[in-house]
Amino acid sequence: MPPYAGIATFLGAPQRDRPAGGRPAVAVLGAPFDFGTTYRPGSRFGPGAIRAVSRLLTGDDHPELGLSPQGRLDLYDAGDAAPTTADIAGSLAAIREAAAAQLQAGARLLTLGGDHTITLPLLEAAAAQHGPLALMQFDAHSDTWPGTPSARIYHGSWLRHAIERGLVDPRATVQVGLHSPIDRATAAWTRDRGVTGLSAESVHIDGVDRTVERIRAVIGDRPAYLTFDIDGIDPGLAPGVACPESGGLFPWQALAMLRRLGDVAWVGADVVETCPPYDHSDVTAVLAATIGWTWLCLLAARA
Ligand code: MN
Ligand code: MN
Repeated sequence: MPPYAGIATFLGAPQRDRPAGGRPAVAVLGAPFDFGTTYRPGSRFGPGAIRAVSRLLTGDDHPELGLSPQGRLDLYDAGDAAPTTADIAGSLAAIREAAAAQLQAGARLLTLGGDHTITLPLLEAAAAQHGPLALMQFDAHSDTWPGTPSARIYHGSWLRHAIERGLVDPRATVQVGLHSPIDRATAAWTRDRGVTGLSAESVHIDGVDRTVERIRAVIGDRPAYLTFDIDGIDPGLAPGVACPESGGLFPWQALAMLRRLGDVAWVGADVVETCPPYDHSDVTAVLAATIGWTWLCLLAARA
């Protein structure tokens, strides 16, 4: 089937809701949720856009790793967690339940967002299996803002809640590509919990290998979760995002760092904040698909 024909699933993977048995199972889940967005809405259309362009990556090998997920993994597309429009709490519960069902069936999980709020229920499901997780977060933003009393959970506060609930170990949490403005109180709260923040500027200056060493030292060997907010990439190279911030990473830097992290004990990953209404020529959706594919290649290399 050519990559523009047929019904779009991620990488053209079969659509089902359970592992087939045999090879290591990885489920792809869509979370078309953007009710936690503060600026440009539209990432609810992310999973569909990413699936559509992902089929261009079907079959052939990664240019550096020399392998592909197909054949080595039991990769399947489990469809979308069904959110309830405008109901944040209900939608997050639906995402948590859909994720937990896949994990309990024995699959690891790659989730396509959706705004960054979805990482909170995804971490709840993963931590229920593994305990407090190490976390690698690519992002322009810290996402540790306190919110307001009437809007505590949104795409800028999920990590604060994940830390307060013990879902992630802040001393095993590393943020890469930070380059948004942040208030002093939020920056201090984050630092005081022991979170390691690596700015986009530091990556540009220190380079990929030195940055990977620092990431590796923070994450260690414990079960780790990857959350990739596409706005960690410069908006000139990833324009389809909810909150663009100038001065981000190049795509090659993020992809090069990711592929050097194949020995991390990854238990799950998400790619979030792709906002197709603000994208051009599928630039951002192609990058999001490539990030998800690269993470799957890392799992395939160890399968
Ligand atoms: Mn962000
Ligand atoms: Mn974010």
